[in-house]
Amino acid sequence: MDHFLYRDGQLHAEDVAVRDIAATIGTPFYCYSAATLTRHYHLFTEALSPLPHMVCFAIKSLSNLAVLKLLGDLGAGMDVVSGGEYRRALAAGIPGDRIVFSGVGKTREEMRLALTGGIRQFNVESEPEMRALSEVATSLGLRAPITIRVNPDVDAKTHEKIATGKSENKFGIPIARASEVYAEAARLPGLEVIGIDVHIGSQLTDLAPFEQAYLKVADLTRRLRSEGHTISRLDLGGGLGIPYARSNEAPPLPMDYGALIKRTVGDLGVEVEIEPGRLISGNAGILVSSVIYVKNGEGRDFLIVDAAMNDLVRPSMYGAHHDIIAVEEPAPGVDARVFDVVGPVCETGDTFAKARPVAPLGEGDLIAFRSAGAYGAVMASEYNSRPLVPEVLVKGDHFAVIRARPTFDEMLSRDTIPEWL
Ligand SMILES: *Cc1c(COP(=O)(O)O)cnc(C)c1O
Repeated sequence: MDHFLYRDGQLHAEDVAVRDIAATIGTPFYCYSAATLTRHYHLFTEALSPLPHMVCFAIKSLSNLAVLKLLGDLGAGMDVVSGGEYRRALAAGIPGDRIVFSGVGKTREEMRLALTGGIRQFNVESEPEMRALSEVATSLGLRAPITIRVNPDVDAKTHEKIATGKSENKFGIPIARASEVYAEAARLPGLEVIGIDVHIGSQLTDLAPFEQAYLKVADLTRRLRSEGHTISRLDLGGGLGIPYARSNEAPPLPMDYGALIKRTVGDLGVEVEIEPGRLISGNAGILVSSVIYVKNGEGRDFLIVDAAMNDLVRPSMYGAHHDIIAVEEPAPGVDARVFDVVGPVCETGDTFAKARPVAPLGEGDLIAFRSAGAYGAVMASEYNSRPLVPEVLVKGDHFAVIRARPTFDEMLSRDTIPEWL
């Protein structure tokens, strides 16, 4: 459920007409709903209660400071995968002890940044990283709290680019080698081992792979404890999928996911962390765009819109589906018209949808791409020298631009022509 609904024939974000936002800031833009973000965060906290837990929002899915502040004020922790995301979390007012640091390639500089700024734990992904972290922590006179990310070798049955829990993926250490790696971690002076981490992929639409992975983690917890390690925290990753095509998708609910967590690791006396990104932010955002032209081709009609692959790359990068709706509600009984929906970028890959029934739209009409809150704005670029797409947050009847569209002067001023040229 989200808060983008038609009211009086107009698409609203909560109590604000999307048309009014478009009239104020122009298109394209992302629009997020505070109520939806809040609701999704609470679904997880409710699903995990009464287990001791922390829901750490995966910043990489949507990293605007206003969104991080909103979730942080609700009590959310943050999962960061770079020094830049770590800085964003701090800048949004999230205390270090609610920030977990994931990622396969943390640099020594990033480790130093997080150790001095405060950190809940590092999710370590390899032995070389473990040794580097111990060195950095020791040089600062500190001990770094860590979990080690294990690769459980389960098939997440998701898009190959976002599956992370198979043995051929670059993530984590093979679960079969865990005893050996934990033994080395325990000997390293700059580390304090506190738990285990696992994350098997993104946009999972079935609970079975989670169950396989979490059962393996539960077994590993018992084994590592018997080998003398303290395992007081399990980070179970993110990855729960969302419905992108409302008409025919019904992925598992957070409540069922929570029940699965309780069933698999609930009796271990551990604190549970999860790192959802997409489920919190995905359906909390839309991308709003205007129709530039309707072009009649041979055997198909093109809707040429002012958003493009640089603004929302998921269709062209993952072949992803986004529902596309008219901002002005089609009158009852009006037949949909079928379009290929494309952007202005000079690549055939700049196609959002093929043969999609939308509405009988014309020049200047507004459309919205649904489910665009996650991996939308964060993956946007200025390809084709198109200004980085702005972001708007709605709460009740308020809206604010939370990232402005850059001016062309700003964009040009980032380049430097060398004196000797
Ligand atoms: C991407 C990622 C997440 C978030 O995944 P979602 O599918 O957005 O929930 C969480 N943890 C790690 C380590 C990730 O890489």
